[in-house]
Amino acid sequence: MLLVSNQLGPRPADATMERVAALTRHLWQGEARTRGGNHHIYDEQIPMVATTLQQLQKHGSAGSAFWRFGRKRHQSLLDAVGNPRREAAEERAYAEDEARAKAYRAEQQRREEQLAAEREARRPVCARCGEKFTDARWKGAAEYPPGPRWFPTLCQKCQALAIQAAEAEEAEQERQEHQEGRGGWLSRFRS
Ligand SMILES: [Zn+2]
Repeated sequence: MLLVSNQLGPRPADATMERVAALTRHLWQGEARTRGGNHHIYDEQIPMVATTLQQLQKHGSAGSAFWRFGRKRHQSLLDAVGNPRREAAEERAYAEDEARAKAYRAEQQRREEQLAAEREARRPVCARCGEKFTDARWKGAAEYPPGPRWFPTLCQKCQALAIQAAEAEEAEQERQEHQEGRGGWLSRFRS
């Protein structure tokens, strides 16, 4: 609502507007907010804007000739009717939220990278060839203790070689035992 007064007679226009403002406070007064910077919100309130012919002559209709009830300074008509402080505050609050979310994401990523690096540093290497374990090999080696055909300190390739060697040794042992057995039988036969 725009009120224009003309300063005539004994009562100054500013004092008249102050009085109108005081009487209509319940219609225009906003609620103070601080998030993003001090501002007011005016949901369902009526923007009461006052000027005088003298102000309009001095500043022009596009200038800071308008006083919105409850505000300290004169503004352009658009700023007086609108709520630039609220818009700025909301933009700042939004930017703060964005910055916080971005910092959080960066921190998460840093932590994940650190955990991955720490895990990589713990990855076992093959006791024979020094090659790094694959994830599957690492998991298996951690879960199962050494067994007859299971060498958890070796990589898959070296384990295959170790099993081959163990089998060859067993075969050799069997052959020798067989021979000794025959030898024993022969020697018994001979005696
Ligand atoms: Zn190996």
